[in-house]
Amino acid sequence: MTPQFAVFGHPVAHSLSPHIHARFGRQFGLDVDYHAIDAAPADFVRMLGEFRDGGGIGANVTLPLKEAAFALCRSQGERARRAGAVNTLIRDGKDWHGENTDGIGLVNDLAGRHGLDLREWRTLLLGAGGAARGVAPALLDAGIGELTIVNRTPARADALADALGEPARVLTRCWADLPRLGDFDLIVNATSAAHAGVMPELHGGLANRRSAAVDLGYGEVAIGFLAWARAAGCLIAVNGLGMLVEQAAESFRLWHGQRPDTDPVFAELQARQRVPRTAD
Ligand code: NDP
Repeated sequence: MTPQFAVFGHPVAHSLSPHIHARFGRQFGLDVDYHAIDAAPADFVRMLGEFRDGGGIGANVTLPLKEAAFALCRSQGERARRAGAVNTLIRDGKDWHGENTDGIGLVNDLAGRHGLDLREWRTLLLGAGGAARGVAPALLDAGIGELTIVNRTPARADALADALGEPARVLTRCWADLPRLGDFDLIVNATSAAHAGVMPELHGGLANRRSAAVDLGYGEVAIGFLAWARAAGCLIAVNGLGMLVEQAAESFRLWHGQRPDTDPVFAELQARQRVPRTAD
């Protein structure tokens, strides 16, 4: 049976992951069979079982299935455990082992591609969903200073802060508190608001002239936040395309034991300026 790989999500039709993994495979002479599978939450476990029985040995998991993927894994890596979310599944007999490569993907993009030294950076994380859970531990590991988490539903921000277990470094605030929080060195938009055509309410005082802003989404969903960041005076404003390619490279390494060169794939995708509806 040919080993198969897939990305599960809902929706997932516009995912760039099949293209990225095909490009990575080509670097090593591998003909990678990787396709997108649309699975509604109620169907995910059954469809993943069918995928496994058909030769599936590795899968990525995206919105809104990352927490469900965490729950179904027989074992999870440390990054996935700290995130409470899984974006990479690795077949382990009849079962699955779960990892989370989102956070290292973001840090590799910011530190590697954009040359940012994140140590001691006062950081604002907007959102507390699956992506925020994935990136928060990696940002802390990268040495950022104080991390402030703000989420529309405050209880989810509190739950994330509790899971991170660093009360001296991680705090939560309500959206209404934003005007009183001062400015941040790094502002991460991990909300999915733009997918519903909404731009979260932000004000210019959150940024200074050295600030970096990153929207984990890319294409048209990132336009509003990046326009806000530039108007607010941020020095650097980037979307989530680099993170997408970097997290894919980490997943590829976990499955195939070799790390692809991300630069040509990133450059190609950026040049094509595709505008997908979903992020990964
Ligand atoms: P989730 O559905 O898990 O979480 C969504 C988050 O957005 C929640 O914190 C939610 O708040 C918040 N939110 C939704 N609507 C609004 C709104 N109108 N105003 C304020 N906050 C809102 O999604 P993910 O965490 O998986 O995805 C978040 C973003 O990250 C998406 O743009 C996604 O495409 C992107 N992403 C990018 C990746 C990459 O590799 N570049 C990888 C993974 C994700 P609440 O808790 O109140 O509902």
